[in-house]
Amino acid sequence: MKILVINCGSSSLKYQLIDMDNESVVAKGLCERIGIEGSKLTHKADGKEDYVVEREMPTHVTAIEMVMEALQDAKYGVIKDTSEIAAVGHRVLHAGTVYSDSIIVNEDVKRVIKECFDLGPLHNPANLMGIEACEKAMPGTPNVAVWDTGFGMKMPEKAYTYAIPHEYMEKYSLRRYGFHGTSHLYVSGEVLKFAGLDPEKGKVIVCHLGNGSSISASIGGKCVDTSMGLTPLEGLVMGTRSGDVDPAVVQFICNKEGKDVNEVLNILNKKSGVLGISGVSSDFRDLGAAAEEGNERAKVALEVFVYRVAKYIGAYVAAMNGVDAIAFTAGVGENDMKTRKDVCAYLGYLGVEIDDEANNCRGKRQMISTPNSKVKVMILPTNEELAIARETLRLV
Ligand code: ADP
Repeated sequence: MKILVINCGSSSLKYQLIDMDNESVVAKGLCERIGIEGSKLTHKADGKEDYVVEREMPTHVTAIEMVMEALQDAKYGVIKDTSEIAAVGHRVLHAGTVYSDSIIVNEDVKRVIKECFDLGPLHNPANLMGIEACEKAMPGTPNVAVWDTGFGMKMPEKAYTYAIPHEYMEKYSLRRYGFHGTSHLYVSGEVLKFAGLDPEKGKVIVCHLGNGSSISASIGGKCVDTSMGLTPLEGLVMGTRSGDVDPAVVQFICNKEGKDVNEVLNILNKKSGVLGISGVSSDFRDLGAAAEEGNERAKVALEVFVYRVAKYIGAYVAAMNGVDAIAFTAGVGENDMKTRKDVCAYLGYLGVEIDDEANNCRGKRQMISTPNSKVKVMILPTNEELAIARETLRLV
């Protein structure tokens, strides 16, 4: 059975066709610059040359049509017709407090996605367009919404409640939601298996460190806490996002710089994080190189990043009264051995011991702690598409 996974951004659409019999990727690709001049589809199929189509894509409907053409193309395609696609799984950012479990899309689900446009102003409209485009291109094929907030929605009330007047929670569902849900769901589940932990009781911390970074604590795969909040701005220091700051910082910059709240929020989202501290880059490869050349601000940026991760790990060990395994995932977590080593250097009190040779590794599932380590530490590459495909298969 084949499942198509769709991840729509405001001007992009990523897809993977996955054969669920062996969970292998049959084809994948990317539509870029949707609604902008110079749109392009890049399609890669197993064992075939890459296929690039440069054609205008005014909307996501055209983009989906082109994806269907590529998937069925005589030379580059992988299916004879769309009836081979059993279902489509969509990554959808936000369903407010209405849904946490993945769900087959119907008119009610589409209404909820629309009602949550203000909670996910960039993503929810694009996600809805992707769903409607698939309904048009493949009438009768089920579409499944897998929520990026789904994992975090399972955290208990004491973890999701902001200490602000309760009326805002009641009126606006203003609470912590958490994001990167499909990644935390996938990685925490795989860690339980890979580390041989009790599937019901295993205590796991997942450090998803990429451009956007978040960390989660889970017991038996169920979220206990996660670092992102109402929006993906809360929590860890990120490429360009500040993570946790005193809200009074916003007021202070507004007053001193004559800016409004929206402008300052934009600064906290796009010009802060390791980019803001270093003034060098949001990319960890650039920062590592700059730090090695003696750039002090790049060094400080990396120290602040690592320190925040270590602090959150400490908090989550307290929240769970222990931890059995810690996993690193996403661009930085999977590839940057120095960041992993520096984070683990804070964890001696947990009895964490890293094997430097094992840690000298990129992008593959690997235990990096020594056999004596009291907590198992590992690299576990994320696979959000597979997580979405598994959820979709479960429902159809
Ligand atoms: P996102 O999905 O949030 O955009 P990714 O998970 O793809 O981000 O991570 C991207 C980041 O991974 C890059 O910005 C870069 O800093 C980091 N990265 C990728 N490869 C390496 C590497 N070899 N060493 C250090 N950092 C890396």
